Amino acid sequence: MNRINSESAYREALKYIPGGVNSPVRSLRSVGEQPIFIREAKGVVLTDVDNNRLTDFCLSWGVFILGHNHPKVNEAVIAAVSRGTSYGIPSLQETELAKLVNAHIPSMERVRFVNSGTEAVMSAVRLARGYTGRDVLVKFDGCYHGHADHLLVSAGSGLATINGGRQSSSSGVPESFISCTVSLPFNSRSAVEQVFKEIGGDIAAVIVEPTPANMGVVLPCDGFLEYLREVTERHGSLLIFDEVISGFRLSLGGAQQLFGVSPDLTTIGKIVGGGFPAAAFGGRADIMNLLAPDGPVYQAGTLSGNPVAMSAGIETLNILSSEGFYSALNSKASAFIEELKQNIAGKDIVLNSVGSMFTLFFSSQEVDSFEAAKSCDLQRFGLFFRHLLRKGFYISPSQFEANFISAAHSEKELERFVKEVKNAVN
Ligand code: PMP
Repeated sequence: MNRINSESAYREALKYIPGGVNSPVRSLRSVGEQPIFIREAKGVVLTDVDNNRLTDFCLSWGVFILGHNHPKVNEAVIAAVSRGTSYGIPSLQETELAKLVNAHIPSMERVRFVNSGTEAVMSAVRLARGYTGRDVLVKFDGCYHGHADHLLVSAGSGLATINGGRQSSSSGVPESFISCTVSLPFNSRSAVEQVFKEIGGDIAAVIVEPTPANMGVVLPCDGFLEYLREVTERHGSLLIFDEVISGFRLSLGGAQQLFGVSPDLTTIGKIVGGGFPAAAFGGRADIMNLLAPDGPVYQAGTLSGNPVAMSAGIETLNILSSEGFYSALNSKASAFIEELKQNIAGKDIVLNSVGSMFTLFFSSQEVDSFEAAKSCDLQRFGLFFRHLLRKGFYISPSQFEANFISAAHSEKELERFVKEVKNAVN
């Protein structure tokens, strides 16, 4: 695989951009590679600056459920651009997209658009603190909610942090800045029970990825989400579902529809922006109405509700709501997952999946928590990634990420992938 142009693009980028990348995982360091520079993308094929063609299973981290460069989305975007790219004054598209979000995710009674998942979560947490008048945020190890200080609290920072313990944080942010966040083991009902017993009256919110995808795909154990709903309600804390990945991925109504659990606040991103920097948070009207200008919780954004991004989102959601979209995608995905499972049997690999997202963990034990995910063989994952890359497949470049199937993956491409996975692990 010739990478001459990517290599020189990387050298040039290093002169101006820290690490040469605008998001660390793109450095490909954890899989022993260097960044690949992409020239264009269409459907499921990425073409890099050396003309290598890669079949994409990362899809801009789950954004492109329809595949890259979808003609109908492009049409809507070009029409929007021709009317100007930002006004800083309301446009009709904002209400139209909010209306669609509310129709598909009814718990999002009011919706506010922002520019990234990080911003959506930051704003939802501020709102939860404003609404409850409490400080403490409970999150789960291995769940990622963006890079705001208080959300980067590392695994294992349980009550000791709250009580003034000096646990180190992997984020590089001093603990004193983030001491109002507690991170608990995902799927541990007893850990949640304990923290509510000790400081329940101080907890503003519990935030969770209902189907975590940032430690690789991990599923909630039976009753876990229901328990979070019940315990938060009982203590007057809010429940926030971070559906930045699962929203519009698992179903039109996201993970909350799939599991039948309704949070107070939800964050969405990725798919809702149709490939543009848009995300949103929303939830119960009585909570959302505390936001400025109606209420005291300040939140704002120069490019929030950008008309080009809103148009891309509207067109994307219109396509997603066409009859049978999710049943076709999810049944294609489950046939593929079944096939993949058979081809990795006996190779010490665990395949976790939900809907059209999956992770292959290089481990012989069930992966139901960050602790379990961390015990995977990362060397083997690196080898696996590099093998697939040489064969023309781009999977998410970390053991702790999800892969995605889109409506644009053909059965032939999926078969080719399964065959190459089999070669890679043999
Ligand atoms: N929440 C979740 C669940 C995510 O997966 C991500 C990003 N992958 C974020 C929040 C942050 O989103 P962004 O990268 O758009 O800031």
